[in-house]
Amino acid sequence: MRNHTIWLVLLVSGVCAGEKIDSAKAMDLTYTFDEKTIYWPTSPGFHWEKTQWGKTPAGYFYSSANYGANEHGGTHLDSPIHFSEGGISTEQIPVSKLIAAAVVVDVSAACGRNADYRLTVADLQAFEQKHGRIPNGSVLLVRTGWGRFWPDKMRYLGTDKQGDVANLHFPGVSKEAAEFLVKQRALNGLGIDTASIDHGQSKDFIVHRVLYGAGLYGLENVANLEKVPVTGATLIALPMKIKGGTGGPARIVAILP
Ligand SMILES: [Zn+2]
Repeated sequence: MRNHTIWLVLLVSGVCAGEKIDSAKAMDLTYTFDEKTIYWPTSPGFHWEKTQWGKTPAGYFYSSANYGANEHGGTHLDSPIHFSEGGISTEQIPVSKLIAAAVVVDVSAACGRNADYRLTVADLQAFEQKHGRIPNGSVLLVRTGWGRFWPDKMRYLGTDKQGDVANLHFPGVSKEAAEFLVKQRALNGLGIDTASIDHGQSKDFIVHRVLYGAGLYGLENVANLEKVPVTGATLIALPMKIKGGTGGPARIVAILP
């Protein structure tokens, strides 16, 4: 099979470069949308319904379907307006911000011991000691290891009961780490392999408020994070361009180094 090579102009945080992208190195970080896709316990799931499916009277095949869902389920983007009044909405995020270097901070060992674990400033400092300063204009991906539980709601969320937010248990980011990233670093966005950048037991969603208040976007339910190298990958995270959207389903791809 021929190895296709495509050219894509990458506009990464002001650096305009014609970068050669090897499509064989593209990895899909997106969960399929279907009836099993995990949504917040207060949301109905992904709705998909065939409207036509089969041979038409004229003899050719034709299929079509309707779909609908909350903006915040499955692999998706959070736009700043999700938790920041006056923040930009999904269609206003420039694509140049959605194509960025990816850095992966692995806290899966700590999360394995404690489902309520929150990424700390010390975790970020340990990362930087090993791999260098978190680059400006990058997307920080938090690897908790929770992807191994998808799509088992009981293990992934801590509950499989509709409406049961009291029993949500999964890891996230600490308020202090969010403040450090906003004040001391210059990320485009932050992603995680759980249902929320705030841990399951959060009641004030402070990490959402801190990051989105500073104009960053979020990526949640990011798939296959265990396969993304700690540094060197380029992330392409493209949400449906919903006007006024507080987020939206996103196709996320990592181009491996
Ligand atoms: Zn969301």
